[in-house]
Amino acid sequence: MSESRAFCPRCGDSIEGSADSVEEPAASPSAERGSSADDDRAGTAGASAPADAGTPVADATTDRTPLCTDCYFEAFVLADAPARIEVAVCAGCGAVERGERWVDVGARDYTDVAVEAVSEALEVHVDAEEFAWGVDPEQVDENTIRMHCGLSAVVRGRPIEEHVTVPVKFSRGTCRRCGRIAGDYYASTVQVRADGRTPTDEEVGRAAEIAREYVADREAAGDRDAFVSKITESADGLDIRVSTTQLGRAIADRIVGQFGGDVSDSETLVTEDEDGDEVYRVSYAVRLPRFRPGDVIEPAADGGEGGPVLVESARGNLKGVRLKTGEPYEADAGDATAPDARRLGRREDGVETTLVAVADDRAVQVLDPETYETKTIARPDYLDPDAETVPVLKSRAGLHVLPAE
Ligand SMILES: [Zn+2]
Ligand SMILES: [Zn+2]
Repeated sequence: MSESRAFCPRCGDSIEGSADSVEEPAASPSAERGSSADDDRAGTAGASAPADAGTPVADATTDRTPLCTDCYFEAFVLADAPARIEVAVCAGCGAVERGERWVDVGARDYTDVAVEAVSEALEVHVDAEEFAWGVDPEQVDENTIRMHCGLSAVVRGRPIEEHVTVPVKFSRGTCRRCGRIAGDYYASTVQVRADGRTPTDEEVGRAAEIAREYVADREAAGDRDAFVSKITESADGLDIRVSTTQLGRAIADRIVGQFGGDVSDSETLVTEDEDGDEVYRVSYAVRLPRFRPGDVIEPAADGGEGGPVLVESARGNLKGVRLKTGEPYEADAGDATAPDARRLGRREDGVETTLVAVADDRAVQVLDPETYETKTIARPDYLDPDAETVPVLKSRAGLHVLPAE
């Protein structure tokens, strides 16, 4: 099958006498490369690991005429490596830039990052089989690691070893996250307000905690876009600025999940981004319920007949217990979280007083905590008739026994 009169185009020797193994040079891959450089084959080249011997490689022997074995190996380069590699490191958080993305190095060493960068940059010759490499990193200075790489492979049945040194230089940069944090960037605001009142210190504190905890969880899960820009307390409540609308929505939902109330959202067009896309900021307005657990209220629905109610839950319909009878109370669906009612006080306003006597099923006698007169008042079913003292609340609606804590 061999051409009897072929000559090596480089040295002019007759190929016939050399070896037949060179009769099939890298002609087919290089020819293919010429026509399909822009399609998938080229696309995979940059990302392929060095062990991938299928990576197309610039080759001195692209000439279709076969070279003699000596000339082939003389021109042979096992792997192309860049003269040096630069890796950007964020001066703020230490993340490294990998392509278009910033990646947290975390517990990994920067040497590992350098190894990875070299591994990605090495372009191994298509003819190499059983390619393997090892590296001996040499820390030159704070920002430079010289990577001494030992490469080996089998090419056309012949074992090949090469050495290549690639300096990896770490340069200071700023990742998108740190840049955004420095620029006070935010994409949504959660406004915490309350219906007909000001949010309490506890609600404000807890809402801020919910925001910080949720964002910290997202960050821990590897979401580099998640951060809290700013939390501000105002006379009306709390404003929480966060980096994405997803965070804003999730935080608002969690606050309502804990305290009840509702959320409404509104979008504002703020600007266009680098690509000319419109950028919206979304505000989530959380309205905490008018009444909260521990409030003692007097619903107006039944003309005040039912008497005061101790609120136990404000999530969904307002729920509580009647202080006159101990019966459960639930606001009508129409009233939902804010039934028409006046607020009489808080459970904490109650004081212990002496239970003088149990009159009958519906009445007890207690000492008025202010005047120390004996008063006959309604007996709720949660009252323990054997107790010496009971908690009572004195309000505009009169004296009532509270459930024991
Ligand atoms: Zn030759
Ligand atoms: Zn950073």
